[in-house]
Amino acid sequence: MPSPPPQQPALPILEHEDEIMETVEANPVVVVIGETGSGKSTQLSQILHRRGYTCRGAIAVTQPRRVAAVSVSRRVAQELSVPLGDEVGYAIRFEDRTSEKTCIKYLTDGVLLRESLSDPELKQYSVIILDEAHERSLNTDILLGLMKRLIMNRASDLKVLITSATLDGLKVSKFFSGCPVLNIPGTLFPVEKFYSTERPTNYIESSLRTAIDIHVKESPGDVLIFMTGKDDIDKMVAKLEERIKNLEEGSCMDALVLPLHGSLPPEQQVRVFAPAPPNCRRFIVSTNVAETSLTVDGVVFVIDCGYVKQRQYNPSSGMYSLDVVQISRVQADQRAGRAGRTRPGKCYRLYPMSIYQNEFLEATIPEIQRSSLAGSVLYLKSLDLPDINILKFDFLDPPSRESLEDALRQLYLIDAIDENGRITDVGRIMAELPLEPSLSRTLIEANELGCLSQALTVAAVLSAEITFRPIRSKVMEGKRKRQGLPDGSGWGDHIQLLQIFESWNQTGYDPGWCSDHELQVRGMKFSKDVRNQLSQIIQKIAKGPTDVQVRRGQKSDLDYRKLRRALCVGYGNQLAERMLHHNGYHTVGYRVQLMQVHPSSVLGGDEYGQLPVYVVYHELINTTRPFMRNVCAVEQSWVEPILKKLERLDIHKLSGRSSASKDPEYLEDEQVSAPKKATDAQQSEVD
Ligand code: ADP
Repeated sequence: MPSPPPQQPALPILEHEDEIMETVEANPVVVVIGETGSGKSTQLSQILHRRGYTCRGAIAVTQPRRVAAVSVSRRVAQELSVPLGDEVGYAIRFEDRTSEKTCIKYLTDGVLLRESLSDPELKQYSVIILDEAHERSLNTDILLGLMKRLIMNRASDLKVLITSATLDGLKVSKFFSGCPVLNIPGTLFPVEKFYSTERPTNYIESSLRTAIDIHVKESPGDVLIFMTGKDDIDKMVAKLEERIKNLEEGSCMDALVLPLHGSLPPEQQVRVFAPAPPNCRRFIVSTNVAETSLTVDGVVFVIDCGYVKQRQYNPSSGMYSLDVVQISRVQADQRAGRAGRTRPGKCYRLYPMSIYQNEFLEATIPEIQRSSLAGSVLYLKSLDLPDINILKFDFLDPPSRESLEDALRQLYLIDAIDENGRITDVGRIMAELPLEPSLSRTLIEANELGCLSQALTVAAVLSAEITFRPIRSKVMEGKRKRQGLPDGSGWGDHIQLLQIFESWNQTGYDPGWCSDHELQVRGMKFSKDVRNQLSQIIQKIAKGPTDVQVRRGQKSDLDYRKLRRALCVGYGNQLAERMLHHNGYHTVGYRVQLMQVHPSSVLGGDEYGQLPVYVVYHELINTTRPFMRNVCAVEQSWVEPILKKLERLDIHKLSGRSSASKDPEYLEDEQVSAPKKATDAQQSEVD
């Protein structure tokens, strides 16, 4: 057993070590509730390790966010003085820093779900800690349901701990048949709250003024500023640095402004955990990742704009929107709490108290109630749980029937389930790929058609989430056409992504080529890595031979035909037809939505008449209006089989109920399954 860490911080969790261990010894499931920063993420695993639990198997600690899995594992490795990846490691999608030696493994909740596909009993673990359960991420919610089943089979040799900063402990305890709830008292100091008299018209400007005010007038202590996203953070950091520079020399202490968000390169993330230099105030400008996932020490002042950026899915339109929405009261309190960890603090709320009291929701809506569930439903189906009817799975908070049915329809259209809702052979292979269903279906079809190599590239680039936004300038309409990059040969974005990657490959993956074309080198390298991993996985699971080598040399249109066909099958649930007399497209399928090609698309600036009649799209997103992002031209003859499937679609059969057992409630939200066309009135909305 390793010796205790050299600089063990005095965290509240450690003071309750014996009580926690006694409860864990006596119960298979325990809920641990403790303030953010009390040591749940970093210490619980170490306590269990010290008490010998890792002799029986590894300890898994799930995190909803990738950045937290990486950052916390790094910290724990440091505290135990071991190299990261040895005894302590992390696994996130497409990145595995673990080894044979790893006995404390931090992993995203999605990765643990994936592991349970090949090892349903998760036998390698003696303890599973579902951390940050209050975040109510989609995957953690599904894990909660699975743990409930797992613990029945492994009651004697598995411990499950559910930890949370704010979660309603009783509700979770009830879900787990009354398991014990341990409340770890925190040592939060009082935080004085100041409210604005009204909502600011420009919240960046208002945060900026407040930050400067604190810097000039207040005693030492770091400032944590909550922003809604990376763009605003970048703006804020630049403006704040400039205003601080303009302050009269010697009028206040030094200042250091640091950004904090999920897509920050690791070396920059580390900077926020280093203590402030002497006589220096740090300003940490963060997304809500600093709300509970990452604890930054030294914060005494918090500036809370009261907003958060949230992705929401609407099952009736199949559309995502990335909305800036008001936070909940629970979130506002968490944000304020960050100011009182080391001494009494202050929180500046850029909204009136009446908004906090009357307009904010009590708690954030769980992700399961605002996401597309196709991937999750496919996953659950692939587990072959004995009694599972997806509409009746035991969720802590169930999703709406509409979104479950939407998921079933989507899966049916891409052949992952049959018309009776049973998972197909294709669906089983799809579930094993760490990709969203449309991309995994595309890969399988591409392998049949002999264009797997190209499809792998497209799937990798889309999954690596590389933006083709130029490094220096802002997004500009048609910019992607003007950078001297391949143009997709008129077939759209997927083909362009493929061409870009292949051109890069032809240079021997020269980073200089990326910079010359204003492409992010880090992102491009990541997509290459993702491609390698996907190639290995598909070689293991695909039936028959696979060809994964990247192609070189000139391409003819014929070369892209097979790939476009595979994409049409994969995105059979995301199909659109150009409107005859109007400037836009409408979805083809069981829902009606009007939309246009996003201006950032390689087809975006095209003459309307030149746009393809049928396209598939990777994503439908509502920004200023509904837009399809990443669009690929497909052909009518490929669309026809999908239309036939749509005609046969019977949601009663799909959801495992015979038509005869329709109940009145069910009939109410019944959808017409035949393909719908947009009406004239709807068409004119798009113009
Ligand atoms: P909780 O999970 O209860 O919110 P944590 O275990 O994350 O608490 O944090 C406990 C302490 O460890 C905090 O003081 C925090 O600042 C510190 N800590 C956590 N992660 C890191 C890291 N990556 N680097 C440095 N310190 C960290």
